[in-house]
Amino acid sequence: MKTVKDYIRTIPDFPHKGILFRDVTTLFSDPRGLRLAVDQMLHPYAGMRIDKVVGLEARGFILGGAIAHQLSVGFVPIRKKGKLPGPTLGESYTLEYGKAEVEIHEDAIAGGERILLVDDLLATGGTAEAGIKLIERLGGTIMGCAFIVDLPELGGRARLEGMGMEVHALCE
Ligand code: AMP
Repeated sequence: MKTVKDYIRTIPDFPHKGILFRDVTTLFSDPRGLRLAVDQMLHPYAGMRIDKVVGLEARGFILGGAIAHQLSVGFVPIRKKGKLPGPTLGESYTLEYGKAEVEIHEDAIAGGERILLVDDLLATGGTAEAGIKLIERLGGTIMGCAFIVDLPELGGRARLEGMGMEVHALCE
């Protein structure tokens, strides 16, 4: 039986020289691969009350939509600056070269809602940290942060755990 890791393809030197890009489109395009990933990402949260799933652009939308459907709860996107049409809250964070900003609709989460944050991959944790800050600014309580891949040498898990987050990833 193939594991989640077996479905992920590695593309060297994308988008920059020296980066090993972990491409989950080969996992998503396989009927067993997508189901396996969604089921395994949900497993730690069985029996827990989750009110909403929040996904980080863009692969977090694919996973987050499937996970929200499975839990029969709503889905909320966190998008790159300038993409959401309604009133937003923003958080900027530093990248290797420069800065980025992500946004959430300010009415997307109600105070006290229990949130599962989802993305495909955890690297430095900068993107997830910005997402966590947005959710917490809206009064959401984060029940966990779920990823397919964790790159532990880049420190994202330690960074999120240092913020008191529970982090689950399917593989390293
Ligand atoms: P970070 O904010 O450094 O944790 O980066 C996480 C975000 O960048 C996620 O949305 C990933 O999809 C993407 N990302 C970072 N590094 C890689 C990589 N080596 N392969 C695929 N995606 C990556």
